[in-house]
Amino acid sequence: SYRKGGYHAVRIADQFAGGRYIAQRKLGWGQFSTVWLAYDTTTSAYVALKIQKSAAQFVQAALHEIDVLSSIADDAPSNSKFVVQLIDHFKHTGPNGQHLCMVLEFLGDSLLRLIRHNRYKGLPMNKVREICKCILIGLDYLHREHGIIHTDLKPENVLLVSTIDPAKDPVRSGLSPILERPEGNTNVAVSSLIEKKLKRRARRAVAKISGQRGSMGGIGDVSKSERNIDGIDVRCKVVDFGNACWADKPFAEEIQTRQYRAPEVILQAGYSFSVDMWSFACIAFELATGDMLFTPKVGQGFSEDEDHLALMMELLGKIPRKVATAGAKSKDFFDRHGDLRRIRRLKFWPLNKLLIDRYKFSESVAHEFSEFLLPLLDFAPEKRPTAQKCLEHPWFMAKECITNEMRNDSSVEKVDVGISNLKIKVGK
Ligand code: ATP
Ligand code: MG
Ligand code: MG
Repeated sequence: SYRKGGYHAVRIADQFAGGRYIAQRKLGWGQFSTVWLAYDTTTSAYVALKIQKSAAQFVQAALHEIDVLSSIADDAPSNSKFVVQLIDHFKHTGPNGQHLCMVLEFLGDSLLRLIRHNRYKGLPMNKVREICKCILIGLDYLHREHGIIHTDLKPENVLLVSTIDPAKDPVRSGLSPILERPEGNTNVAVSSLIEKKLKRRARRAVAKISGQRGSMGGIGDVSKSERNIDGIDVRCKVVDFGNACWADKPFAEEIQTRQYRAPEVILQAGYSFSVDMWSFACIAFELATGDMLFTPKVGQGFSEDEDHLALMMELLGKIPRKVATAGAKSKDFFDRHGDLRRIRRLKFWPLNKLLIDRYKFSESVAHEFSEFLLPLLDFAPEKRPTAQKCLEHPWFMAKECITNEMRNDSSVEKVDVGISNLKIKVGK
């Protein structure tokens, strides 16, 4: 993909935007871009530099992402803290063409890496709650304040907030080849002022190097003793707005990554904010168990879509006939009774039972968690609770789930341990 129209090849210490940003190391990549850790010489801070492929459709996509991100970047109500911030954007011309570049705040590892880090065993429930709360506050902000649907919510697209300031602690935060190179061994061209700065940092970094490099946020290639998930602060932010849209201007019919896709999208029955709520429930399950909630596959005589619908029904019961028959594709999948045409025998296994039987949840934890998730997995999109409503759910009232930082945040309701057993009916 490093050819005309594709990715821009970056070398460490490459400069961008007239020398303002200096590439440090690669953070990740996607279908559309590579993302680099860069040093912002104007603010003396580290940022994430997302460099888009250069072909017309990628430029178009980047313009859209910049459009969405700019609209949510400027105002700063406390809830915007749970959505990635766009700092700057510019064009960069290279051998493969002209690339749009987005400068984003620098964040840590994705929830996917967190799940992997915990060896797919599922996180402790209080961590699941903290993460869920962050995502919901972010979603509530996007949905209510901006009318934006994310449409691609999944563990990869939620990044942990690094509690380590890379400028203060370059070693622990896994920074950066340039900074960790011993002095004198640096043959990169940087302006003398920056060079001085970098050398000062490098000296400090070298002095502190103690064997293994951790990755951002202290997660990743960490030593065994650090694998204890309880030691990890799990504030996180929603990223990747390349597919986001305003609810009144949906532009794609097929949205969402397969496993996190809502039934109305499969049926092509139209969609709104509640598709994000479905994906959110899938993420919450995955955090708690380490497994994806739905992993549909094509089979003999049925498609991936049909398997997906069958899996949903096995977990959640039959799709109400009215919902099943409401989409442009309904006739392909369902007969007029609302039964799947090509998958006739379903093995029902309700969520509560699944959590107890397969994941060995205690009855009370399984019960509370499924009471939280099931309304979000309602087949009727309009019956799913909103993010705002969901934040009021008693599942969040347990004492251990509220961090001090959140307690000070006016957007989060005050904790009252006394009502933790109160059941509030949500969504119906
Ligand atoms: P996709 O194919 O998923 O649409 P994309 O090309 O739009 O990908 P992103 O998903 O935005 O790119 O970013 C790719 C990867 O770069 C992420 O999965 C993450 O690992 C890393 N990344 C993105 N933004 C940041 C950030 N702000 N801070 C740190 N790392 C980031
Ligand atoms: Mg992505
Ligand atoms: Mg994207």
